[in-house]
Amino acid sequence: MKHFLPLSPHIPANFFIPMKKAYLFLSLLFISFALLAQEVKPVKNVIMMIPDGTSIGVYSAARWFKYYNGMENKLHIDPYLSGTVSTFSSNAPIGDSAPTGSTYATGVLQQVGNVGIHPTVSDNDLFPVDANRTYQPAANILEASRIEKNKAVGLVVTCEFPHATPADFSAHHYNRGNYKVLAPQIAYQNIDVVFAGGNKILTDDIKNHFANNGTTLIQDDKEALLHYNGNGKVWALFDEKSMPYNIDKDLDKMPSLAEMTEKALEVLSKKPNGFFLMVEGSHVDWAAHANDPATMIDEFLAFDEAVGKVMEFAEKDGNTAVVIASDHGNSGFSIGSRNCSGSSKLSLEQLFGNVSKYKMSTVALESVLMDTKPEKIKETFKEYTDIDLTDEELETLLSSKNYKESDYTQVGTSNNLAYNIGKILNAKTCFGFTTGSHTGEEVLLASYHPQGDILKGNVKNTELNRYLQKVTGLEISLEELSDRIFAKHDKVFLGMNYTIDKKDKDFPVLKVKKGKNTLEVRAFSSVAKLNGKPFDIGSVVIYIDKNDTFYLPVGLVEKL
Ligand SMILES: [Zn+2]
Repeated sequence: MKHFLPLSPHIPANFFIPMKKAYLFLSLLFISFALLAQEVKPVKNVIMMIPDGTSIGVYSAARWFKYYNGMENKLHIDPYLSGTVSTFSSNAPIGDSAPTGSTYATGVLQQVGNVGIHPTVSDNDLFPVDANRTYQPAANILEASRIEKNKAVGLVVTCEFPHATPADFSAHHYNRGNYKVLAPQIAYQNIDVVFAGGNKILTDDIKNHFANNGTTLIQDDKEALLHYNGNGKVWALFDEKSMPYNIDKDLDKMPSLAEMTEKALEVLSKKPNGFFLMVEGSHVDWAAHANDPATMIDEFLAFDEAVGKVMEFAEKDGNTAVVIASDHGNSGFSIGSRNCSGSSKLSLEQLFGNVSKYKMSTVALESVLMDTKPEKIKETFKEYTDIDLTDEELETLLSSKNYKESDYTQVGTSNNLAYNIGKILNAKTCFGFTTGSHTGEEVLLASYHPQGDILKGNVKNTELNRYLQKVTGLEISLEELSDRIFAKHDKVFLGMNYTIDKKDKDFPVLKVKKGKNTLEVRAFSSVAKLNGKPFDIGSVVIYIDKNDTFYLPVGLVEKL
């Protein structure tokens, strides 16, 4: 028998609950009611911060790492820790950035790969999925802040701008990898501030739109970003795709996450109606995937610096709420491992000495070693890690599949160089990793509210979204907004003469005729044409090929 545990107080019809489940159900119901009943005073500015893929052990390691290196063993986030978040997909207890970030943004549980969209029904659904809404874009908190509250909105991340988490808060599609349709959506959202990686992803169409909507575009120019003092919209992009890891960054040329966050706060706080800002430390997750502890700790500390800037702003402002939570765990990271016996006798030096000497990520060290002659490898390795390689370790590196130095090509094991570097570095630490993938434990929650109406306890990712809706002071729910701005074209233009032009298969155009009027709506844009004249729709139009449907505002019919 299949059983569902309802998330909110909606009991599916013909629902049979065994006795044990009934207790669980009732307590869940109670928690849901308690959260629904919580008074949350709306504030002017709302900030959501996400250290991507950060398991609890990373917080502990970051504190001790600071202490070992002569700093106070305290994080900026510490005074605001308030609970944990259980974060999962619609049909899997272990989350992924696209669905779980999307759930923070929209309140809708989704499947792996989904960005801001209702999922399909699957055999493994954890909670009931509404088949009638499959593929309908789910309006997010950024859209609601802009459309319903006329607030300014911003995204600050270190990955490329259409990567999962920023896309979760600004785009809609079933496939997170389809940058072709995610990137234009983010541009056509008319976002006030976007600081990220991804210059190579910009298209002529996006640049034209920036010229039309008055967006200042700063490219690979840290000075221009730091000196920006305009009042309009501003995008600053660095590097071709993602920005490099913080540990590998040339901070003379590229801003830190804290610098980008500070500038975003400066620009957004000038806006009269307040703002919504999402800040992501994108690369804690990537370093965890790579089982690279030095980089993971450094990335988290770079994120925590940004938390410091945000909390300083919020405390001073008095009208700003902040919620901080990772989107899922990653790598099963532990302080203490099978390598090191007698774990409770290990000293701070034994645990944090070697990792403090690693000066580069394993991927950056890989690219250095790729250009290093075999006889120089030991010397170069020592320079960046303070490790004297054994002959056996050297042999492992040289026999890495992708080590192809001009006068020395060896193809040995199937392992690549970065992986083998990581293995050597980790063998000199007492850190454990159980996997190179995501993990399903709850993540830490931090929350700040000027009147103390914080989010606390153990909450689900759906409940975190409900809190964001409340603290933003939305008069209508995100679901109601979704039905208003993402209605199916065959319902909106029912009985009218419409066709879908697929000459450009990635960007089909819906053409509707009534009397002398012709309306043309292009997929993934917020600009439509009435009798050839462009106008702003106010939200992004989504086209889903799987059901050949445009999702657009119900009000568009009145244009005809
Ligand atoms: Zn993630």
